[in-house]
Amino acid sequence: DDATSLPGQAAAPGPATPASMDAFWMPFTANRQFRRTPRLLAAAEGMYYRDVEGRQILDGTAGLWCCNAGHARPRIVEAIARQAATMDFAPHFQMGSPLPFELAARLKELAPRPLDHVFFTNSGSESVDTALKIAIAWHRARGEGQRTRLIGREKAYHGVGFGGFSVGGLPNNRKWFGPGLPGVDHMRHTLDIARNAFSRGLPAHGVELAEDLERLVQLHDPSTIAAVIVEPISGSAGVILPPPGYLKRLREICDRYGILLIFDEVITGFGRVGAPFAAQRFEVTPDMMTVAKGLTSGCVPMGAVFVSDRVHEAFMQGPEGAIDLFHGYTYSGHPLACAAALATLDTYAEEGLLARALELEDYWADGLHGLRSSNPGIIDIRNYGLIGAIELAPQDGAPGARGYQVLERAFRKGLLVRTTGDTIALSPPLIVERQHIDDMFSMLGEVLATV
Ligand code: PMP
Repeated sequence: DDATSLPGQAAAPGPATPASMDAFWMPFTANRQFRRTPRLLAAAEGMYYRDVEGRQILDGTAGLWCCNAGHARPRIVEAIARQAATMDFAPHFQMGSPLPFELAARLKELAPRPLDHVFFTNSGSESVDTALKIAIAWHRARGEGQRTRLIGREKAYHGVGFGGFSVGGLPNNRKWFGPGLPGVDHMRHTLDIARNAFSRGLPAHGVELAEDLERLVQLHDPSTIAAVIVEPISGSAGVILPPPGYLKRLREICDRYGILLIFDEVITGFGRVGAPFAAQRFEVTPDMMTVAKGLTSGCVPMGAVFVSDRVHEAFMQGPEGAIDLFHGYTYSGHPLACAAALATLDTYAEEGLLARALELEDYWADGLHGLRSSNPGIIDIRNYGLIGAIELAPQDGAPGARGYQVLERAFRKGLLVRTTGDTIALSPPLIVERQHIDDMFSMLGEVLATV
């Protein structure tokens, strides 16, 4: 059994045998299919992965939308190593250590005012469930404990916790795991290919879909609703962009009825759209913001919830000695994650990476939309910041088959892409250069032509 050699570095351990791959039940994967044609990454540096056979793979997806500073950046690697040797773990229940305080203060400087308080988690899913719990507890703390209803959106992805999948809008979750939390409703999503196909940047049509929120508020009565959660740009369910004015309208409706607005910025945070957060680029400030991924550039698992002054303040009114929020994780503020995050923020600042998506946006859009002619089955191309999506018409009777073919063939050619059904998503590390963008679209164009 060669399982122990799989994650080996450049030493090229050779292809894994199916027997060695049985034990790891892979997330969101067709495990039996994968074992027949494995794609195994073994090392990473800068813009590239290397697979177990030593082939170079251009990272078109920043890992899973997370390695925004690129791979194996020495400053981040050293910070993690140094911290591991100094203090591996510290509890943060009724006890503390300096790093999470320092990190929260740094994060506060990056975020829009008044999102001045940070609660640490270990993932996007945990951040979402944390934000939903804070929303419900906030209303209770202010004497409105009947406000427990949560509103999400169709096609939304908010992770895999029970709260996150309930406010999310993926039918597979309900099919497999039941109805989820009670008292959840959904607005429609804003993907409208019939009206907006091949838009450059934000789609022109669809701002009126924000009125779904007004309709749901009237249906359920505002006095029952705690919070609305949306991704400013949906990523995992296929890259869905907000029409101009849509998020502002959600903000207005929430304000009118005393409902908290949560932005799930797990993929849009940390420079993906050319500002630290999408809230800043879209000029709409939520009451809470969930993040993960780019917070540590994917190096160590970490998530966070940004909380506004107004929300935080209500939890500070209890009797002296009472716990503010009955919630937390063993690893909230983990020293290795904090060290990785601080070094990541330094790297972003020093290299101007949080504005880089804005600088490259036009170049990126030109290359991406140039792929339109590579395959007659392309029904839409969408872009914003350093995010791209190409949507293929599904093959009759086999939705997702074309998307999978593209993923598989791109990998063989040396390009990592992400697919959701027949949508191919791209989100390169923010250190990407024009030459990488050219290489990416050239490889992808060749692959698309064969599908
Ligand atoms: N929210 C959004 C918007 C996401 O894109 C993701 C992950 N792709 C999550 C939550 C869940 O994050 P994690 O996988 O770290 O739990």
